[in-house]
Amino acid sequence: MGARITRRDFLNGVSVAVGGSIAGGLLPGLAMPGRAAAAAPQDQAGYYPPALTGLRGSHVGSFEVAHSLRDGSVWSQSGKITDTGERYDLVVVGGGISGLSAAYFYRARRRGARILILDNHDDFGGHAKRNEFQLGGRLALINGGTFQIDSPRPYSAVADGLLQELAIDPVALANKCADRDFYRSLGLGRSVFFDRETFGADKLLVAGGEASWTQLLAQSPLSPQAQSDIARIEEAKIDYLPGLSSAEKKSRLSKMSYRDFLLNVTKADPSAIAFYQARTHGEWGVGIDAVSALDVWGFGFPGFQGLELAPGSAPGMGYTAAGYADGASYTFHFPDGNASIARLLVRSLVPESLPGRSAEDVVSARLDYSRLDDAGSPARIRLGSTTIRVRNVGDPAASAEVEIAYMRAGELYAVRAGSCVLACYNMIIPYLCPELPEPQKEALRYAVKVPLIYASVALTNWTAFKALGISRVYSPGSYFSSLFLNPVVDIGEYRSPRSPAEPVLVQMTRTPVAPGLPERDQHRAGQLDILSTSFATFERNIRGQLARILGPGGFDSESDITAITVNRWPHGYAYEYNPLFDPDWPEGAAPHVLGRARFGRIAIANSDAGAAAYTDSAIDQAHRAVQELLQN
Ligand SMILES: Cc1cc2nc3c(=O)[nH]c(=O)nc-3n(C[C@H](O)[C@H](O)[C@H](O)COP(=O)(O)OP(=O)(O)OC[C@H]3O[C@@H](n4cnc5c(N)ncnc54)[C@H](O)[C@@H]3O)c2cc1C
Repeated sequence: MGARITRRDFLNGVSVAVGGSIAGGLLPGLAMPGRAAAAAPQDQAGYYPPALTGLRGSHVGSFEVAHSLRDGSVWSQSGKITDTGERYDLVVVGGGISGLSAAYFYRARRRGARILILDNHDDFGGHAKRNEFQLGGRLALINGGTFQIDSPRPYSAVADGLLQELAIDPVALANKCADRDFYRSLGLGRSVFFDRETFGADKLLVAGGEASWTQLLAQSPLSPQAQSDIARIEEAKIDYLPGLSSAEKKSRLSKMSYRDFLLNVTKADPSAIAFYQARTHGEWGVGIDAVSALDVWGFGFPGFQGLELAPGSAPGMGYTAAGYADGASYTFHFPDGNASIARLLVRSLVPESLPGRSAEDVVSARLDYSRLDDAGSPARIRLGSTTIRVRNVGDPAASAEVEIAYMRAGELYAVRAGSCVLACYNMIIPYLCPELPEPQKEALRYAVKVPLIYASVALTNWTAFKALGISRVYSPGSYFSSLFLNPVVDIGEYRSPRSPAEPVLVQMTRTPVAPGLPERDQHRAGQLDILSTSFATFERNIRGQLARILGPGGFDSESDITAITVNRWPHGYAYEYNPLFDPDWPEGAAPHVLGRARFGRIAIANSDAGAAAYTDSAIDQAHRAVQELLQN
């Protein structure tokens, strides 16, 4: 319970009629030139996706076209593509932080450039989504995805420079706006929930006070052997690898999972493993069976106190662990997470859409979606638009133009641009650009994004949390492995609730895994799990789990829950190589580097291109992609 808390600790939509009317082949004869795209939902009054509840994130209507492109069925129909007649300097595929940043960087170099951003979702931001509620007559915000400004490494000059240009000073904002000790000041702390299906009995263990691990665990349903082994792992200073140097120990730890370390090195009883199994879920997207012992050491996990390991990263560590072992970036949590960064980028690109001037007033400002795709604006954002084809016109080496086809509400459209940045997922790019060289396509297919669920749950009050003395819960055996009260941040006009009698938002996180498989196979299984799970199942688990944990504090899941938004991220974190399963590629030969090569007038951004699942990576990759296009 003493490990570092990072960002990760913490249906609606219109169904798209896929297929319809597409002629076979590569962007076949364009029809009806000059006809403008039909009026879209985002242009209608009252369109406001942040306030939608139910299944969000990868919402119904956002992914079906891409999946039919993958399955080959999108091209199996015959029909027409409508040329909208639009000509842009730049088209960006993907309206996440990377795509919005690419538009920003391009415009900074080419004043007055005409830019179109296409995204398949009904809202922009990619993972950086905002969940908005009205609770007790007050605006209540929570992150639907990206939790906060926080990276294992300091922000680069480029990423930090972008924050500065957006007037985001993370250090000053954290000092001024974040009340990080608020829950602790009320006596609320961390806890562990043991569920009866995994541990034999339901039991909430509240950390804190002077109790030792032995005393705490005595109240748990764990076997006496598991209790004494966990207490030893947590507290004892034992050198489990005597006779080896620090470097030799680190090397050995980099080749075994934390599970194997616990079982075979510390000799923990197998019954202790369930207690630790999900501890890595939030950060790595897999359990302790698939994360190296060295990587979790970098995060302050227990069992290493007596090993006398020299501080700092070592060969064989993954990106995230190595970064945190050497230091990290500043941190700041906006009430809607990094959706505030996305919104500030949109304010800069399309100023008419979002009133205000500062990184503080943006939090409460209401965005006018009908302004995002305004014909009079140099930068436009077109939502609900899945790109299905991106092609250099003519020989890629000499091409001066790119043709981009996208599907929107069952209709196919094409636009042209001088350049295109693909700020979407690596794995879809081979389908969008089949002309790419085969080795590049193979490299782009390597990464499998990490699936995650962030559920936002609105409660009428949090008196049960107060009564139980908890603000966050780790539930190693439960459907959702963690839950916590929304962090307290006051910024601009926005105020967080301070009284337990007031409504509050709670975040619950689930990481679907398939223990025992290599990491990428676990992610593939998790993606299927997410998309095949109904809202009713999520809701049943949310209500059931909250009732079991908070019930003894007076919580009533029938009357105390007022809204649920389940943010599904089947294609969540960018894949970071796992030292247990991936080769140690020579410098410059890793798949993400080979995959991001420019192809004619098409450049590749997105956090996948950096193999790092962080906002700063998305920004850095956008900058690189734009530089590549502007150099030629
Ligand atoms: C749940 C979660 C929590 C996270 N927390 C943090 C955090 O606290 N701090 C941090 O730094 N990072 C965090 N990350 C990672 C961070 O969010 C990402 O690294 C970053 O936002 C990625 O931005 P992006 O633009 O590269 O990709 P994305 O956000 O994935 O945006 C890409 C967009 O392109 C769209 N797209 C894909 N294909 C097409 C197509 N064919 N046509 C049109 N559009 C398409 C996608 O749907 C998406 O909207 C988190 C990620 C997740 C999933």
